[in-house]
Amino acid sequence: MKVIVAWSGGKDSQASLIWAAKEFGVKNITAVFCDTGWENPITLLHVVDVCEQLGVELKILRSSKYEGFEDMAIKKKRAPSTKARFCTEELKTKPMIDFILKQSQHLLIIQGIRADESNARSKMEKQCRFFKYYFEPYGLDKYEKPKFHHYRKKEVINWVQNYSDDIIRPYFNATASAVMSDIFSAGQKPNQLYYMGRKRVGCDPCIMCSHSEIKAMVRFTPDSIGRLKQFEKRLGRSFFPPGYIPDRHCSGFDINGKVYPTVDDVIAYLTSTAYNPELFTDLETQERRCMSFYGICE
Ligand code: SF4
Repeated sequence: MKVIVAWSGGKDSQASLIWAAKEFGVKNITAVFCDTGWENPITLLHVVDVCEQLGVELKILRSSKYEGFEDMAIKKKRAPSTKARFCTEELKTKPMIDFILKQSQHLLIIQGIRADESNARSKMEKQCRFFKYYFEPYGLDKYEKPKFHHYRKKEVINWVQNYSDDIIRPYFNATASAVMSDIFSAGQKPNQLYYMGRKRVGCDPCIMCSHSEIKAMVRFTPDSIGRLKQFEKRLGRSFFPPGYIPDRHCSGFDINGKVYPTVDDVIAYLTSTAYNPELFTDLETQERRCMSFYGICE
């Protein structure tokens, strides 16, 4: 049996990796990181560093269809959004499924998912199966018909006839502070981005980035803002969705005349005296986690 740890570079998967190394021995573990090509260099260094400290094998996966986040957005002619979150599916979920289908042995998959991260995650279970939603519905469509996952479905059905795909989420019922405490107790440190105003670690920036995280980027990692401006130039569209800041502070218009904020608009507004965080309580507190069942974004 092979133990696979879904390693995102965030604190929950780091604690899970440490836990798995103790539980199963470092020689039996592979940490799997999905590189979206839109990561902060600090995260990439951290991903490698933690595995080296533990002596655990690291496997970095990339999409076979897109060269990364930017290439995907250009080919799809738009940035992903909270309503169209194809980034997780294309850059993380599919590469992970492709990797699993290449394995010819029983697997135990470890995920750093915690119930108190979000409402969606609280409905998950501590133990589960990776291909669960190929066999039981995850919801209903608009005609009330059950919906299933279907990417490479035939191969998945064949694969599970021969091998196990069990999932364990060792920190499912733990708090964020218990996670941090276990990382420090193991003599490690969490991703440095947590010390730079990030509430979560993943793509940089994530399409669900809060105002405070963008402000933290301006202050601590201005290169991320520079990358965002280049992205916007190449794509010819904004990274940010309409309504991210008040319309009167936006200078972009789409072909239908709809107002949207450019990166410069967002930065100018968030760093101006006009910015009032009270107006954006919902934006700051809404569920901003990757909702993917496969748990590979923090
Ligand atoms: S971290 Fe954010 S931007 Fe990256 S894949 Fe997940 S949802 Fe998309």
